[in-house]
Amino acid sequence: MTAAADPLHAQARRLADALAPVERGLVLVVTGAGVSLASGLATFRGSDPGAIWKRDVMEMATLDFFRRDPVGSWRWYQERFDKVLEARPNPAHLAIAALERWQRARGGDFLLVTQNIDVLHERAGSREMIKVHGSADRVRCQRDGCRLGAPAGSLPLAEVDFGPFRADPSHDTLPRCPDCGGLLRPHVLWFDELYQGHADYRWEQVMQAIERMHVALCVGTSFSVGLTEVLLQAAFWSHTPVLSIDPGEATVVASRGLEQIRARAEELLPRVCAELGAELPA
Ligand SMILES: [Zn+2]
Repeated sequence: MTAAADPLHAQARRLADALAPVERGLVLVVTGAGVSLASGLATFRGSDPGAIWKRDVMEMATLDFFRRDPVGSWRWYQERFDKVLEARPNPAHLAIAALERWQRARGGDFLLVTQNIDVLHERAGSREMIKVHGSADRVRCQRDGCRLGAPAGSLPLAEVDFGPFRADPSHDTLPRCPDCGGLLRPHVLWFDELYQGHADYRWEQVMQAIERMHVALCVGTSFSVGLTEVLLQAAFWSHTPVLSIDPGEATVVASRGLEQIRARAEELLPRVCAELGAELPA
């Protein structure tokens, strides 16, 4: 296929041209739910048929809902986490991990900030990563002051026996903190909570990265959360290029420096790796 007949080629070249010069600086990659869509996980706000948005996520994914109905909250999350933890990384996750290895190998800096609570970036081999909305494979104690709760504590979901709750979801079978007996909760950022609410969201570090980034690559994010707002603002003032890969219609108003590339990340990013010579796993 000739380059003219292959729009992906031109898009891959464009991205490679943006990344190649940042040899010593920081490449910041920000991912949202769109990057995991090809792994079978529904987005929150997308137009995919399973988009969780349609099911009152604004009400369910809140601390307020957990306080009112912990059984309902855990039932909702358990169903979702089962799917999330079964999913496998797609070529976009693998390509992002390959870009990190490529950038590190030439002595550059790289940081991945993901809004996703799935574990697909880890499974794909990403290393330097901040999960700014928490992680589906961990839980924490809801009780103030417990060492397994905020501001810095959590424990692996796998260490908690959900058997009784699965068999008979009720207040008596709710998962409990092994330390203090308080209620356990998902280790995720809820809509009525702040990024600063837990050390694992590493908000300070995200802010520092945004200040010193040389290029930002956004993948599958709808630009509707605080993080992307801050990023676009910072890029606007510092004239830092921001490239966004998303197959949908333009999702944000034009912002200086923001370049939107309409493509599927799982198709485009492996091509970018090829352009740069970033090696993908066989
Ligand atoms: Zn506790």
